[in-house]
Amino acid sequence: MRKRALAIMAGWVFLAGMQAPQPPRAGLEMWRLDCGEIRVSDLDVFSDTYLYVGQQKTLTDSCYLIRNGDRYLLWDTGLPGELAGGSAGEGPFRMSLRERIVPQLARIGVQPGQVTFVGVSHYHDDHIGQAADFPGATLLVGASDWEAIRGRPATAARFRPWIEGNARAQPLRGDHDVFGDGSATILNMPGHTPGHRTLLVRLPRTGPVLLTGDLYHFTENMRRGGIPSFNTDRADTLASMARFQAIARSLRARIIIQHEPADIAKLPAFPASAR
Ligand SMILES: [Zn+2]
Repeated sequence: MRKRALAIMAGWVFLAGMQAPQPPRAGLEMWRLDCGEIRVSDLDVFSDTYLYVGQQKTLTDSCYLIRNGDRYLLWDTGLPGELAGGSAGEGPFRMSLRERIVPQLARIGVQPGQVTFVGVSHYHDDHIGQAADFPGATLLVGASDWEAIRGRPATAARFRPWIEGNARAQPLRGDHDVFGDGSATILNMPGHTPGHRTLLVRLPRTGPVLLTGDLYHFTENMRRGGIPSFNTDRADTLASMARFQAIARSLRARIIIQHEPADIAKLPAFPASAR
């Protein structure tokens, strides 16, 4: 009886092996790009329970390039390119940008036309600033965010190639397997904005990496579950945080908070890549 059970189990394992996708992981790598810096003179807005009144912090603004064979995904596009070499202020925020994304990519031999997909975690200015520098890419964006973008002229202007031109936009309703092999999955995590997304990248040597988008803004904020007062939905944010942490636990993923300067060290320094 036990023998037969073992034979059946072996059959399942064999079948599972047959049906599993064959991920072309060779040539999978990820770079962290410098997409700016944001000095915050009062962190109060990052908690709706008065955790940070009067505190200051300098946040980083990071973008990521993921290569899968000869296809590339650019995840988030940083502060507006016209800021390069300068800075600008708005409320408690002082934003600065050393260098645009395009010249950074040139240093690793990648031209804008090679970028197959531009994925944005959400519609805020520090994540969409240089999207239009990649008009040949398919835009991947949460459907609810895409709807909001089209209703706001200043934000829509950042997406001119996809709104007025022939560039292809793909509004996402749930999760999305970018390359079709499970190597990069955009996860539906609403709350910061209605269509907010995070990104799971499964690297062959480094292992699974979770990029937060703006589900969290800094480490202490993640530890205490601080919810920014400008989030569009508190309950959705809590549900997204619960799912994100559950995924991190089950996959033993490395979490990278995109705005946390301390997390820069979790990936190799550009132009080196994580593989
Ligand atoms: Zn942000």
